[in-house]
Amino acid sequence: MRYYLSDRFILKLLETPTVYDIRNDELYDLDDDAFEFLKKCAGNEGCGEEGADKEFIGYCLSEGILAKEPVNVKRPFIIKSPVPSLRYLELQITDKCNLKCRHCYIGKPLNNELSVGEIKALLNEFEEMQGLRLLITGGEPLMHSRFEEINSLLPEYNFRKILFTNGLLLTDNLLENLHADEIQFSVDGMEHGHEAVRGKGTYEIVMRKVREAIDKGIAVSIATMIHGEDLGEFEEMDGLFRKIGIKDWTVDAPCVSGNLRDNPIFQVAPEVAGKYLNYGFGDGLHGGGEGFACGLHLMSVLANGYAAKCAFYSRTPAGNIEEGLSALWGKIRPIRLNELECFSSSCQFIDACRGGCRFRAEGIYGKDFYRCHAYDIIK
Ligand code: SF4
Ligand code: SF4
Repeated sequence: MRYYLSDRFILKLLETPTVYDIRNDELYDLDDDAFEFLKKCAGNEGCGEEGADKEFIGYCLSEGILAKEPVNVKRPFIIKSPVPSLRYLELQITDKCNLKCRHCYIGKPLNNELSVGEIKALLNEFEEMQGLRLLITGGEPLMHSRFEEINSLLPEYNFRKILFTNGLLLTDNLLENLHADEIQFSVDGMEHGHEAVRGKGTYEIVMRKVREAIDKGIAVSIATMIHGEDLGEFEEMDGLFRKIGIKDWTVDAPCVSGNLRDNPIFQVAPEVAGKYLNYGFGDGLHGGGEGFACGLHLMSVLANGYAAKCAFYSRTPAGNIEEGLSALWGKIRPIRLNELECFSSSCQFIDACRGGCRFRAEGIYGKDFYRCHAYDIIK
C-alpha cells in the first residue's frame, strides 16, 4: 500500500515541524520522525509502511492527512522559517474603497495599489517563509484595478487565502471563480447599526453575499466593530451568525484614527465597549503566541509598499517591500508579555488577554483598557 500527503495538507517547518490543513485551517504539531515520514509521502512516489508507526498512519488516514491515491499538487521546497515565524501576512492590495464608513481607520484613500508583480514577489517570499494565511485586504480589495489577475495567481500558493470585503462588489461571477478559502465580511450590526456607519442599502447586500458564499461551500467569517449605533444588536447578531453557519465572528472596538476622528458619536468608551468584546466566537486572526503580546506572527504590507507590524502602524513602518519580506520581518520586534504593565501589575488574565491590542493600549507597554473592562477588572 502507498500513501500520499493529501492535496489540502502542506508541511511547514515553523518553530517546530508541522503539517497544515489549508482548507480547515488546522495546524498539527509533529515530531521529527513524523515530519520526515510525511515528507516522503509528499513526494510523487508516495510512501510505504516500512519503518512507519502503524498507529500514526491510521491517525493520518482518519484525519485526511494521508490519501491512498496519488495527488497532483505542486509542493514548494521546505525551508525553516525565521523565529518567530511569519504565519499571517495582511496584504492591503489597495487603499481604494467604494464606501466611506464613518468608523474607518484608514480615512481618505490615497488611491495606492500594489502592482501584480509586487504581489507575486511577496507571495513567493511568503510561501518560502512557510506562511500559513494570506489576508487580502484594502480599502476594499475588489477595487484593485487588476483584481482578476491577482485572483488567478492564488491557486499556485500553498497557504490559506482569506478575502476581506464589504461584499458590495462580490458579483456572482466573481464568487463562482474566487480562489479564496475563506471570505471575511464586514458586518457592523443588524440593518440599523450596519447602515448607520456604512450607508443605506448596504446591509441587505452584504447579508445576501454572506449566504451565497456559504451556499457555495466557502468558509465565511464576519468582523464587527463596536460603535455607537450597534450596541443593542449584539444578541441578535450572535443568534443569526450561529444559525447561518459563520465560522469565526470577530468583534473589536475601533481605534480612534481616520474617519472616526470626524465622527466622534460613533466612538464608544472602554467602560461601555469592553463588555461587547466578550461577543464573538471562533479563532481571531491577530492572536499572539505563548509569552508574547498580539501579532507575534503577523505583518502587514500596505498599498503604498511599506510594511508594518499591522495596518494600524502605517505611520511607523519597518521599511519598504523593495527590501524583501524577510528583511522587513527581521525589523519587527515582538513584544514580550513580561515587558507589559499588565505583567508588573500581575493581571490574572494575562495569558488569555495577552495585553489586548497594542495599538489601542496606553503607550507601547501599557494596558488596553477596553480589554480590562471586558474582563471586568476595573469598574
Ligand atoms: S495592534 Fe491591535 S490591530 Fe494590530 S495586531 Fe495587535 S491586536 Fe491586531
Ligand atoms: S485585562 Fe487589562 S491588565 Fe489584564 S492583560 Fe488585558 S489589558 Fe492587561
